[in-house]
Amino acid sequence: MNRVYLKTFGCRTNIYDSQIMAQNLKDFVLVESEAEADIVVVNSCTVTNSADSSARSYIAGLQKQGKRVILAGCGAISKGESLFADEKVFGVFGHSEKKNINALLKREERFFAPGDLKSLDETIVEDFSSRSKAFIKIQEGCDFNCSYCIIPSVRGGARSQKEEKILAQVTKLAANGYGEFVLTGTNIGSYGKDTGSSIATLLKRMSLIRGVRRIRLGSLEPVQIDDAFMEILDEPWMERHLHIALQHTSEEMLRIMRRRNALQRDLELFETIAQKGYALGTDFIVGHPGESQALWEEGLENFRRFPITHIHAFTYSKREGTHAATLKGVVNGKEAKSRLKLLEAITEENNYRFRQRHNRNLQVLVEERKGNFQSGYDQFYNRVYIDSPLDLEKEWVEIAQAEVRREGNFAKVAQ
Ligand code: SF4
Repeated sequence: MNRVYLKTFGCRTNIYDSQIMAQNLKDFVLVESEAEADIVVVNSCTVTNSADSSARSYIAGLQKQGKRVILAGCGAISKGESLFADEKVFGVFGHSEKKNINALLKREERFFAPGDLKSLDETIVEDFSSRSKAFIKIQEGCDFNCSYCIIPSVRGGARSQKEEKILAQVTKLAANGYGEFVLTGTNIGSYGKDTGSSIATLLKRMSLIRGVRRIRLGSLEPVQIDDAFMEILDEPWMERHLHIALQHTSEEMLRIMRRRNALQRDLELFETIAQKGYALGTDFIVGHPGESQALWEEGLENFRRFPITHIHAFTYSKREGTHAATLKGVVNGKEAKSRLKLLEAITEENNYRFRQRHNRNLQVLVEERKGNFQSGYDQFYNRVYIDSPLDLEKEWVEIAQAEVRREGNFAKVAQ
């Protein structure tokens, strides 16, 4: 009973957390598939109803195969108690218990160890062997109070990782050959608020570490982008893409969603950053209670004014325990879906036009093979498909000029 498979659902923070679990597994063998495993650790996500149901059906499938199932991640906090009580899982452990995974998996009796929502990871991650880039979790938790969001209740309040520990980790990973670093967390823009530092300070210090070539950022909140941050946008080591979560572009909807950002300031911010040649991504929730036809149309009209090239659009998902779950004026699913499709179509057109203007001197870190091509992302976070006889995986490739097609950027790299 010592072969373990780690299944990761959800966000980049969960990818990082799974790496911490892998690194703390001393007396077990990590295997590449459920079939080979005796124990499956499910690092779950609970951000939407569909995230919960994906984890539940995955667990049910494992039970049928007689696997010992351990639930971890955000779902361990939101759904762990009921799944444990219903004997759907052998054990449950919360975020703060990740480091104890080796001892927990040795237990012969069932266990429920939710831990706390105050701690920070101590483990220094040394490797992301299956990936070309390294994820660095710089903070945990969130102090915002968005109406629809369950995350603060499963990740706790915002708290920053020690800066020296982050820099030590980057130094280690850079020495192990990683050049691209993705900063992740629950609300990374709140980094440093509790330690007297800031994300701009951290980025500048990271950029001085030997081997750091490109830094990417997870999602930022518009209200967290200050002058110090704006100053580093011209630095050569900054990716030329930012993901800034708007969630909506109707002033009234932002108020209903208890968001801290405001339409006019958001628009000025996006225009200023776009003028620096940045690609800009965002999050957008459609169908939130109160999103009447009029407020939707107002939001859509404003959305068209934003230079948005990448989008994570979601249909509202009712989460028990959130303020939004108590609100009236729910939008029917079909209508919400069509609103989402419209935002995606507008963004796709923006992205295509952006790539036509930004298809030269692309810096691509090749990540994987996709059919006859090898592919990776350029500095604008656009995927580039490379036709080459060479094995370019984990290599940095400079593309003088890419052929821009609707489905992506294409290039040839000869011998
Ligand atoms: S900023 Fe809002 S949406 Fe994001 S994690 Fe915090 S509460 Fe949730």
